[in-house]
Amino acid sequence: MKNRVLVIGNGIIGLSSALAALQRGRDVTILDRIAQGGDNCSQGNAGMVVPSHFIPLAVPGIISQGLRWMRDPESPFYVKPRLSLDLMRWGLRFYMSTNADQVAAGTQVLRDMNLQSREMYSQWQDNGIDCSLVKRGLLMLCNTQHALDEEATIANQARSLGIPASVLSVEETNSLDPNVTMATVGSVYYPKDCHLDPSQLMQSLRNKITSLGGKFLLREHAQGWKTSKGRVHAVETVSGDVEADEFVLCGGVWSDGMVRSLKLRIPMQPGKGYSLTVPDPVELPSVCSIFVEAKVAVTPIGNSLRFGGTMELGELNQSIDPRRVQGIVKSIPKYMPNFKPQHFEGIQPWVGLRPVSPDGLPYIGRTNAYSNLTIATGHAMMGISLGPITGKLVGEVLDGEAPSVDLSHLSPDRFAE
Ligand SMILES: Cc1cc2nc3c(=O)[nH]c(=O)nc-3n(C[C@H](O)[C@H](O)[C@H](O)COP(=O)(O)OP(=O)(O)OC[C@H]3O[C@@H](n4cnc5c(N)ncnc54)[C@H](O)[C@@H]3O)c2cc1C
Repeated sequence: MKNRVLVIGNGIIGLSSALAALQRGRDVTILDRIAQGGDNCSQGNAGMVVPSHFIPLAVPGIISQGLRWMRDPESPFYVKPRLSLDLMRWGLRFYMSTNADQVAAGTQVLRDMNLQSREMYSQWQDNGIDCSLVKRGLLMLCNTQHALDEEATIANQARSLGIPASVLSVEETNSLDPNVTMATVGSVYYPKDCHLDPSQLMQSLRNKITSLGGKFLLREHAQGWKTSKGRVHAVETVSGDVEADEFVLCGGVWSDGMVRSLKLRIPMQPGKGYSLTVPDPVELPSVCSIFVEAKVAVTPIGNSLRFGGTMELGELNQSIDPRRVQGIVKSIPKYMPNFKPQHFEGIQPWVGLRPVSPDGLPYIGRTNAYSNLTIATGHAMMGISLGPITGKLVGEVLDGEAPSVDLSHLSPDRFAE
């Protein structure tokens, strides 16, 4: 009998892990509490594949900037003040992760993962996993000279890490995407970045997994675990126990809650974000971009244009705060003046919860406590970017092979108490 792998979570990380396990000859089942095509964080996001994002979230200076933003209800970053021991502990770990050595180590890991993942997307596309991958790069659009100077410093760092980046004047920025009118003082262009259609990617992955014999067990909520002698035997659901030989937890922001009954901790906060997709925009850029000061991502998806943004830390629910959505809408004409607030009237915002670890790095690997439990989660703003390489790493972990990327900084046990 083939070795059975149960993957918990039908998001990009679960699907990428399932694909890798199937390609390694395992008998794979994916369990999720929502229906096929149901909404999780992997559906309505900005779909960017970003080697340019090699700096972890927790960097020196971010806390003072975050505190300034918190006074503005329409700002791109917000922490809902509340008395929560988990949030306080997470905040302390976040603060401790902003030291230069840790950031430098995280930078190398994210660079390696992003570049490998980008290559894998091309291979996936060639192997029938169609996600409308567009390899035209990313523009970091700046409204102020101060932001452009900061982005130019990051571009220097990128080049020193082998990631191409150019600082562009206003004219060079405009000529790179003549389809759209932009109001900037200049930009940084990352030619290796790409964009794709996340919903199409998810559907193509499911089709591929089904064609390789993978099974889906949907509308089943994993409620607990059956364990003995340092091994997991089954996941408990209302319909009964689901047994397997190996378990891969890819439960996104809900993963920490799921491992608590195993006496494990993978600290995580939900980073709520919104996207607005305009079906027939006044202008359709051909290159994806980020409004640097406003922290809004702009992605052409087919004939529509998606704007995504905000990072609201701390609330594990999918309620929509209209003030935050307004913050996105108001920022758009500052960078793309032909877009007006009325173009967004009647557009229903999509909401997603990013799984955010305190050091801005994912959790990938086995746990010390359970020899057949692998964890893959905590990808925050980069789950799409890092999906393929995460799946590859999970496959290597399952087979006990040397990992393609140094996993020592990604251990799920790194915050164990
Ligand atoms: C506005 C926005 C824009 C973004 N843009 C980008 C981008 O451009 N590029 C990029 O790389 N990333 C982007 N991201 C981040 C990206 O969307 C996430 O990192 C990624 O989707 C996380 O994937 P996941 O598989 O870990 O989690 P999810 O997609 O959330 O999947 C987790 C799954 O686990 C299931 N689950 C949880 N608990 C249980 C349980 N008890 N039983 C059964 N099933 C369970 C859930 O139902 C869910 O389906 C963006 C996010 C947001 C919000």
